[in-house]
Amino acid sequence: MLLACPIMAWAQDYYDVGVNHIKINSSTQLNDKEELLICPMDLMEEGFCFPLPGSKILSPYGTRDGRMHSGWDIKTFANDTIRCAFNGEVIMSQWYADYGNCVIVRHPNGLETYYSHNVKNLVKKGDKVKAGTPLALEGRTGRATGDHLHFETRVNNQHFDPSLLFDFENHRLRKDCLRITKKKSVIKVKKVK
Ligand SMILES: [Zn+2]
Repeated sequence: MLLACPIMAWAQDYYDVGVNHIKINSSTQLNDKEELLICPMDLMEEGFCFPLPGSKILSPYGTRDGRMHSGWDIKTFANDTIRCAFNGEVIMSQWYADYGNCVIVRHPNGLETYYSHNVKNLVKKGDKVKAGTPLALEGRTGRATGDHLHFETRVNNQHFDPSLLFDFENHRLRKDCLRITKKKSVIKVKKVK
């Protein structure tokens, strides 16, 4: 089910931004020899909303200026509504260092999504949320030089490239499932055709 998310025009210029890789402690979901299969089609059935409808890409995941950028930066405009990607539970909603105001949602399949730099969080820890639930308002809190959403995907508290799941250009989910395994506390993410 694709939820109807309001499409907003983006109205500001490009801003560069830096976010350090900060570890936020949360309990682990994946043990050695276990594997986690995350399938976009299953997620779609449960409900999906692109976190920032109408957004423009600022910066992808990966190494940037010699530093790891742990998520994707996307933007519309200040105070725009950031929405939950999938059903889940809020496991953190607070200020966290360079992330500024940050919301973390854990989804039933073990995936966690992070929404940060918010001017204001609209949910609190323990809230049950649905795909499309307003989580926060877009801002530039923490280490950010312009209003945008720094969006991360994590399993076992380890970030991986959200674009393996999300098509940030077309605001859709990709088709391939992801197989996530853990070896010596490091997760590996592989596409499964
Ligand atoms: Zn970022």
